[in-house]
Amino acid sequence: MKVQLLPSTIETDGTAAKRQHFSCIVIDDRVAVDAGSLAFACSDTQRKQIRDVIISHVHLDHIAGLPPFIDDLYSTLVGPVRIHGTAGMIDALETHIFNWTIYPRFSELTNAHGKVLEYLTFTGGREFSCEHLSVTPIAVNHVPESMGFIVSDGNVSVGITGDTAHTEDVWEQLSDRGDLAAVFVECAFPDELAGLAAASYHLTPAGLAEELKKFKRSGVPIYVVNIKPMFRERVIAELTNLSISGLTAAEPGQIFQF
Ligand SMILES: [Zn+2]
Repeated sequence: MKVQLLPSTIETDGTAAKRQHFSCIVIDDRVAVDAGSLAFACSDTQRKQIRDVIISHVHLDHIAGLPPFIDDLYSTLVGPVRIHGTAGMIDALETHIFNWTIYPRFSELTNAHGKVLEYLTFTGGREFSCEHLSVTPIAVNHVPESMGFIVSDGNVSVGITGDTAHTEDVWEQLSDRGDLAAVFVECAFPDELAGLAAASYHLTPAGLAEELKKFKRSGVPIYVVNIKPMFRERVIAELTNLSISGLTAAEPGQIFQF
């Protein structure tokens, strides 16, 4: 399984910037988990192949690249872009984004080949198929309604927590996965901002250390994503100070092969 954390912005020399403003993880160049930077940072191959976008929650940093992604492809699509979300997430996208004011309601539009956007509903705890992958959504502790995922290609699986504060189920289920190759976990703020992290349902390094006590597996790498760009260096220094084996920050643009 190939997993890429898409970058958010590109430096003037063309390399991926270290600062992660948006969240988008692409699996096997075909399926996107969140779409924060999807339209802006995907490769030509990814743009051609990705027709499934799984939403963890509808915060802007996780969906900002979705409207322009569909817009770019609009006239060339021979089948719809499929957005996978809970009923509540889909309702929020239709009410607040694709509402004819912020952006066109693509779900009501067609091109020469038919629909350009299709919604597929998932429910927490119920595995669903998406291209060649099986995906289990697990409710996590973030506002609004948010999901983490276990994504399997039949050989290996990866865990993606999405945005979350302290939570239980996702760690319990990840601990039980024998084929687990890696976990991508959020850690938004430094310890000094624990109050802000709690108020916004995010983790700090100390909070993440508490979370990892619930993860009953050893030898599985833990990659930290969704670090607030302003605090990236400080969060990484605090993560390093934890001296937890296998815990590292993922670099925006980094490609993982499992
Ligand atoms: Zn969020």
